[in-house]
Amino acid sequence: MQGSTKLIHSIPTDPLTGALSVPIYQTSTFVQDFPGVNKGYDYARTNNPTREVVEDLIAGLENGSTGIAFASGLAAIDAVLKLLQSGDEIIAVDDIYGGAYRLFEQVYRKFGVRITYVDSSDPGAVFQALTEKTRLIWIETPTNPTLKISDIQAIAHIARAHGCLLCVDNTFASPALQRPISLGADIVVHSATKYLGGHSDLIAGLVVTRDNELGERIKFYQNACGAILSPFDSWLLIRGIETLHLRIRQHCTGGQAVAEFLHGCPQINKVYYPGLPSHPNHETARKQSKGFGGIVSFSLHQDTEEAAQKLVSITRLFKLAESLGGIKSLISHPASMTHKTIPVEKRRSSGVADSLIRLSIGLEEPEDLISDLDSALMDLTKNNASVNKFSFNN
Ligand SMILES: *Cc1c(COP(=O)(O)O)cnc(C)c1O
Repeated sequence: MQGSTKLIHSIPTDPLTGALSVPIYQTSTFVQDFPGVNKGYDYARTNNPTREVVEDLIAGLENGSTGIAFASGLAAIDAVLKLLQSGDEIIAVDDIYGGAYRLFEQVYRKFGVRITYVDSSDPGAVFQALTEKTRLIWIETPTNPTLKISDIQAIAHIARAHGCLLCVDNTFASPALQRPISLGADIVVHSATKYLGGHSDLIAGLVVTRDNELGERIKFYQNACGAILSPFDSWLLIRGIETLHLRIRQHCTGGQAVAEFLHGCPQINKVYYPGLPSHPNHETARKQSKGFGGIVSFSLHQDTEEAAQKLVSITRLFKLAESLGGIKSLISHPASMTHKTIPVEKRRSSGVADSLIRLSIGLEEPEDLISDLDSALMDLTKNNASVNKFSFNN
């Protein structure tokens, strides 16, 4: 069976009533027949039938053994970090998601966890950074917002040989495109807020482990620390995941079309999209993913925050907002939004130019998205011309 057929038919119908849609078990506790004798559920922090469906669903999609659902992507990342002890070291991708960076630096560092950041698009840099205290390698591929690609298989070999864990944040690709556990990773995390939920209507996080033993350890932290996904949000997430393959196909089609259009635009300096042959890791992306996704970034020849801020505020279909992976296209300016707190020099040196703009391609028709960008770029040029003329006349 192909991906989507398998996915759709792995969602169980309700054994009690035959309900085709998974019931929302909105309960805090479960009646027991005798102390300790129950139907597999006792208290809803520990286990909930609706949550269990989404946990099994993601485990199957990622080809792992255990799925564990959390209240947010950051809660999922936090649960994985709890596997570590004081004195342990992490090697992490240098342009890591900002929220993960904050968690590593402002929460875990004070408990004695050390973090080294490297450009993991070069597996050699990961190898060089290993020490005898390295317990975890943390990568995202593609990264945000410059869409760097790391070779999961090569880094999994390094992790295995060193006896440490490899965790891949698979938020940007989704399991419809890339399955890190099949490439050798031990753990996958998701901000299910993005493509898995897919409709910009919930915050959720997921962890999937390669084996049961690791799964049980993460499940322990899910119950012990309590950042669980609610029954209703579990249901919303199931509903989103049901259409994952279909949505991702369209996100990829739109992403490729928009990236190719931007690549030919005179106002654009650089386009970042793994599906363009000019992308430095295009071959690795092609090798490990079924498609190149729906995130496209670009910078302008006129490399100023002002020009970028103007552009992001004059598109009509692309809405100005943080986040990504939903059905509506979004546009954002990392330098003044998501990456504002990063010191300017550090931001620029990690490749986030002043004029860098990130697009999350939604499910609109690609030609409409292109014409929206085309007219916004024209307006930008027109107004610049008149501004220049004005200052020239003066
Ligand atoms: C959004 C995001 C997160 C954090 O997820 P939340 O659901 O917002 O907590 C983690 N990693 C990546 C790559 C993200 O894009």
